[in-house]
Amino acid sequence: MKVTILLGAPGSGKGTIAEKVRDACGVIHLSTGDALRAAVKEGAEVGRKAEEFMTKGELVPDEVIVKIVEDRFDAGAGDEHFLFDGFPRTENQAELLEKGLEQRGSSIAMVVLLDAPRDVLMERLTGRRVCRQCGQSFHVRNIPPKVEGVCDKCGGELYQRKDDEEETIANRLEVYKEQTEGLIARYEGLGLLCRIDSTADADEVGAEISAMIRGA
Ligand code: ADP
Ligand code: ZN
Repeated sequence: MKVTILLGAPGSGKGTIAEKVRDACGVIHLSTGDALRAAVKEGAEVGRKAEEFMTKGELVPDEVIVKIVEDRFDAGAGDEHFLFDGFPRTENQAELLEKGLEQRGSSIAMVVLLDAPRDVLMERLTGRRVCRQCGQSFHVRNIPPKVEGVCDKCGGELYQRKDDEEETIANRLEVYKEQTEGLIARYEGLGLLCRIDSTADADEVGAEISAMIRGA
């Protein structure tokens, strides 16, 4: 088992880039945000616990997240390359991940930081629309759907995530600064960090990361 981490603020493009990398090199994309939204939609117990935190833009408790990740680790054959999107997000999660990997005879291969200035993050998040049915992301200006409000991929209805409303976005960026940004120094210290300018073209960013993963 191998693990590559995509690190970056909300709106830095983790989900979009992760999908491109998955399609290009067959890694398993694990988005804790997507997993939580799926649990909310299903009405699962973890979903009920997570929802109140998510709508406020707060972090969901570490034990909920770690359970999601470990279940995925142990569901596979053990030879997967996971691409984490949105995890770890706290120092404690980072420590738990390192322990969990060690127990499984593995370690982190690489951490990619997607870098973007705050005004770009705000613009991306406020304009984001998501398909209720398949989860595909669009953007009202940057990636508009062919028909307004309708998913190109499956015809589902597009909606704005509650946590993409302007007030909640400001809180998410604050939470990122307070609880997650410190991980950059952690992984830099471990010699695992690689910075990428995520204002560049998404296809190019995806290709660059895919090449690094193939070489890892
Ligand atoms: P973004 O990275 O754009 O904020 P995500 O879809 O990754 O969006 O996450 C949405 C929400 O899900 C977060 O604001 C948080 O409440 C919750 N969440 C996702 N991953 C984690 C995590 N590793 N730890 C705690 N909460 C998380
Ligand atoms: Zn769709």
